[in-house]
Amino acid sequence: MSSTTALNASRRARELAALTDGTTVDLIVIGGGITGAGIALDAASRGLSVVLVEKHDLAFGTSRWSSKLVHGGLRYLATGNVGIARRSAVERGILMTRNGPHLVRAMPQLVPLLPEMTAASRALVRFGFAAGDGLRKLAGTPAATLPRSRRIDAQRAVALAPTVRRDGLDGGLLAYDGQLVDDARLVTAVARTAAQHGARILTRVAASDATRTSVTLTDVQTGESTDVTARAVVNATGVWAGEVDDSIRLRPSRGTHLVFDAAAFGNPTAALTVPIPGEINRFVFAMPEQLGRVYLGLTDEDAPGPIPDVPHPTPSEVAFLLDTVNTALDTALGHDDIVGAYAGLRPLIDTGSGRTADVSREHAVTESPSGVISVIGGKLTEYRYMAEDVVDRAVTLRGLTAGVCRTRNLPLVGAPSNPVATLRSPAELPSSLVARYGAEAPNVIAQAGCERPTDAVADGIDVTRAEFEYAVTHEGALTVEDILDRRTRIGLVAGDRSRAEAAAAEMLAAAN
Ligand SMILES: Cc1cc2nc3c(=O)[nH]c(=O)nc-3n(C[C@H](O)[C@H](O)[C@H](O)COP(=O)(O)OP(=O)(O)OC[C@H]3O[C@@H](n4cnc5c(N)ncnc54)[C@H](O)[C@@H]3O)c2cc1C
Repeated sequence: MSSTTALNASRRARELAALTDGTTVDLIVIGGGITGAGIALDAASRGLSVVLVEKHDLAFGTSRWSSKLVHGGLRYLATGNVGIARRSAVERGILMTRNGPHLVRAMPQLVPLLPEMTAASRALVRFGFAAGDGLRKLAGTPAATLPRSRRIDAQRAVALAPTVRRDGLDGGLLAYDGQLVDDARLVTAVARTAAQHGARILTRVAASDATRTSVTLTDVQTGESTDVTARAVVNATGVWAGEVDDSIRLRPSRGTHLVFDAAAFGNPTAALTVPIPGEINRFVFAMPEQLGRVYLGLTDEDAPGPIPDVPHPTPSEVAFLLDTVNTALDTALGHDDIVGAYAGLRPLIDTGSGRTADVSREHAVTESPSGVISVIGGKLTEYRYMAEDVVDRAVTLRGLTAGVCRTRNLPLVGAPSNPVATLRSPAELPSSLVARYGAEAPNVIAQAGCERPTDAVADGIDVTRAEFEYAVTHEGALTVEDILDRRTRIGLVAGDRSRAEAAAAEMLAAAN
């Protein structure tokens, strides 16, 4: 492992130019979401030569629009699929304890016991939470990492979620699950760790005409194209998979979240988890997030037709989320309280009819008549397992010479045992910086060349100028949007975005 983890414009230019020399690589991965980044890491750490290409930016697609939860697999248990549920809990444990402990925290989820919640529904939640504890134990994740579920009294419930309705509140049920500081930051960390193991990570490079052994790559910035040959070609383009391989049929489903100032929910420390009226086992969540926000999600709507680059929430989804959460609040929230919103498309496998909420989240690996190996479906939580599965298949199908999968014990950039870690004591730096960069946080400040590196990028935004610079010098950001919308999530709130734009432009200009 000799390569540096730093991704930037000059490395991209160098590695892209080197691809024109006609050498054959072991694996080309198309798509720089969590699935593609995970595959690049798995393959590179087994000793394969890997090129990952992403048409836009890392985490441009669905991977930045998730609920940012690292699930324990309860929903699979509810549908009787114990095997997948267990696997999800195992992957959660691996990410939280070994691969990326700095990126995931234990998030309390509070189901308030309000009068309209029936005895049957209370019993179901209690049973579900107990089953979740069982899964956690089965997966070997200690209670020190994810505390046990329990019943709490009304006073404690109000302390955790201060705006919860007090009238008739009979306490609450509390359980813990994994919460990412940010999904796009997980993708960046995985991609940089892949680069650390020698993978070439090339953003703003679009793939077309993919076959068993070749792909046309087009530099989106210059329009120049080159054909690259490979021993295996993997399509990890999520909801766009059918554009790369026309034998694939997906049934995208849209999920929407609304963004609020945390103050609108009384600065909660737990995710307020509200049963959807008339549904047996579905909830909306108001989750505390970085930068002083709460994200309220989520919907599950059929989204047929052409796939947009960036999906948008519909008015009916916004109304549904507000109406549902308001059933559990003392003072109703309205449209004026919403400071941002986002929607993403789940890359679900087309199983025909039925509600999208009931379609399996299981992934599938297929080889099309063109010889492209595609991975479809799946969840962010299981990216490591999916990557292992895909690389195993590619190795077998193409007779590649590769080592065994190493990712179970492989620390991502920012994890304390990754060689780039420099943090001695977490008290040395602001907690928000450590939450985003883990043990790499001191590098962010120490390597900054800008003026006033520890100043905020704009008043009231808890992101330092050094972080913007690091996005450009180390995290592959090539544009203002990459910095505001994916390396940080400032762009989710329009007012914050316009205040931080100048600092982002300044860091890009300084690097060029
Ligand atoms: C609303 C919502 C909430 C979710 N919440 C959770 C959650 O809490 N926990 C969880 O585990 N999972 C969750 N999921 C599921 C999870 O987000 C997805 O399964 C996962 O992000 C899919 O990642 P991907 O890499 O397969 O796809 P994507 O992230 O979409 O990546 C595909 C990439 O391919 C690129 N691309 C497309 N065509 C080309 C081309 N021709 N050349 C080069 N690049 C190309 C795109 O630009 C894109 O960046 C959620 C999904 C949604 C929609």
